[in-house]
Amino acid sequence: MKKITIGIFSFLLFTLTAIAQNGNSIYATMDAEDAASFKTLYPNDVQILKTENNQSAVFISEEVAHHIHDNVQTHGPGYIFKASEEKALSALNQLQRRPSVLDYSITEDAFVNECLDLVDSQNIEDNILLLQAYGTRYHTKPQAEQAVMDQQAKWDAWILASGRTDIHTRIYNHVNTPMPSVILTIDGANTPDEFVIIGGHIDSTSQGDKNDAPGADDNASGISSLNEMVRVLLAKNFVPNRTIEVMAFAAEEQGLVGSAEIAEEYADNGVNVAAYVQFDMTGYKGSSRDIYITTDYYNSSTLNDYLFALMDHYNANGAHNFRYATTECGYGCSDHASWAANGYDAAFPFEAAMSQDNPNIHSSNDLYSFFNTPDHATKFTKLGLEFLIEAAKPETLSVNDFSEKAITVYVKDKSLNYRLNNKVSDVTAIAIYNVAGQRIYSEKVNNENGSLQLQQFAKGFYIAQFALENGHTLTKKFILN
Ligand SMILES: [Zn+2]
Repeated sequence: MKKITIGIFSFLLFTLTAIAQNGNSIYATMDAEDAASFKTLYPNDVQILKTENNQSAVFISEEVAHHIHDNVQTHGPGYIFKASEEKALSALNQLQRRPSVLDYSITEDAFVNECLDLVDSQNIEDNILLLQAYGTRYHTKPQAEQAVMDQQAKWDAWILASGRTDIHTRIYNHVNTPMPSVILTIDGANTPDEFVIIGGHIDSTSQGDKNDAPGADDNASGISSLNEMVRVLLAKNFVPNRTIEVMAFAAEEQGLVGSAEIAEEYADNGVNVAAYVQFDMTGYKGSSRDIYITTDYYNSSTLNDYLFALMDHYNANGAHNFRYATTECGYGCSDHASWAANGYDAAFPFEAAMSQDNPNIHSSNDLYSFFNTPDHATKFTKLGLEFLIEAAKPETLSVNDFSEKAITVYVKDKSLNYRLNNKVSDVTAIAIYNVAGQRIYSEKVNNENGSLQLQQFAKGFYIAQFALENGHTLTKKFILN
């Protein structure tokens, strides 16, 4: 364990030179125990600014980086880059968990299984080879930005072909790296303010020549697993209840730089992220089981339990069978830590037990030929689909979406009558949509039962959306006759 710790530090320091600010040092947060032992090793090059909640805010010099830069031997940077002392210090007490709106139910068997059947591992192999072919995706190299622009173009082409107007992409430009990130958004049909997010980093690195960093497993594999999830969801014309976002991050290898900026902005804006799941290294099967869920303290045990339950439900046997176990990854080990650091429920399913993962990452040998099959990465695509569909839930127009459910509606004399069956919350607003999805009427109310006069509207199908005081939304289809 100690050896791994030193490995993390050496990698961390090795990368610092690339983004050194404030002279030749940077601010970061890291595991408190690691920071302390590192301070002992290099007392003049490590400043521990403050320690709280098992994390330390630190200021680290480039000299240390040179000193130990040959020992790199682990995954992930092991720290979270911070642009200033103030940001490093304030990050220490932001780990407080925000409440999640998820009920962690598993209700979409038929649809999920149809989607799993559509997963095509050939697409994953093709995509890994495509990303590997950039040669490098190191964050300061032009190929890194090109890979991001090409990723956006791929998604845009899929969206155009689907004819959907509720799916968008956007480039996210960063302050602390020249490399952009790219985000795909599928608007939630019923509760668009609730976000279910998955992601992975699209940058790569190498201990040696930064122009030779193919990053096939780290992390072309994860990005390719994500792409196949998106392709399947579009092929099945999936319209989620909650908003789904898929993110390909810049500069993870430089201290989670891309994801840290995005997650911080979401938190600052009060964005309601119900859950975040990271896909970073899905290609190499180094252990006896298939998917290893990381159980580090900053991850959400509730969300981890949900991933276990999904795999028990969908992958215990049958055509989509695979097996899982748990492992630990360490502080700041991948982009999910950026979301956890802002109080969101985050999880990270990994390719192997931590000491048995791909030995070639962060080198010119991180090539597809080393694992040479898309089969492992395909399992992560399946888990991702299970998670996205069950967490975001399909748009349902005739059935209630929530467990505290049940609103009864009926039409009589062209008036719509409604009644909440369980007194959980009052109805605060009602909106009526036509079948084309246009809102044709809305009214604010404050009751648990009532009626709307709809005499002015033609006969036909309509959709009523009831906003509840507790933030939930119930949707019902009805016929006006
Ligand atoms: Zn990675």
